[in-house]
Amino acid sequence: MTPSIRLHVNAPLSPGAEVPATAGQAHYLGSVMRRAAGDAVLLFNGHDGEWRARIGALRKEKGHFVAEVQTRPQAPEPDIWLVFAVLKRDATDLVVEKATELGVSRILPVFTDRTNAARVNLDRLAAIAAEAAEQCERLVVPAIAAPQPLSALLAAWPAGRRLVVAAERANAAPIRPLAGPCALIIGPEGGFTPLELDLMGRHPLVQSASLGPRILRAETAAIVGLALLQAPQDG
Ligand code: SAH
Repeated sequence: MTPSIRLHVNAPLSPGAEVPATAGQAHYLGSVMRRAAGDAVLLFNGHDGEWRARIGALRKEKGHFVAEVQTRPQAPEPDIWLVFAVLKRDATDLVVEKATELGVSRILPVFTDRTNAARVNLDRLAAIAAEAAEQCERLVVPAIAAPQPLSALLAAWPAGRRLVVAAERANAAPIRPLAGPCALIIGPEGGFTPLELDLMGRHPLVQSASLGPRILRAETAAIVGLALLQAPQDG
């Protein structure tokens, strides 16, 4: 039987490597999935590909795995970042889960003038991203940056990475795939302020793009934008 439980771990993976399970993984395997020592799982750590492993020991909140054989090599992934204005908790959770499924390599929450959420729980978001990567068979969990003001993000923006601003009501060209490293930025429910749009517009790596004629919720805009930014092109 193909093992279908996939788990993200932090330890290196190689033949015979002993890999600790987190308390959450031990609980999930034993109490939820009724697995026991000797059962197979798949492990990945973002560097060493995917490995078949056995549960070496499992007790309540403790356990470890023993890696056996690599089942998939590590493969290159799209170099797309998602920047988004922090939303209410459920919407932020949704954005992190869907951005992970859509392959982004880095998620950067920002505070804008009209952001009305004051903080994010990074541990919770990291757990959501790990779970989404496990479920969608990605071999990498995207990094989630600590939230920062939009102005700080722009001031330290890396050379060579284009930034696509999702701009509603702006007569911008439709969003489409770009070659090379890029990022998509989505505003808060209240939208960007004219000042913010102006600040971004003056940055040489920034371009605006439309997601169509309707005004989308920020979380919808993130999902649609990431999909269209990666849409296969003819010819
Ligand atoms: N309150 C604003 C809408 C904000 S929607 C207004 O009424 O105009 C939240 C964010 O989603 C926006 O800042 C933008 O980044 C993105 N967005 C929503 N609809 C969009 C569209 N049709 N095209 C491009 N971006 C869009």
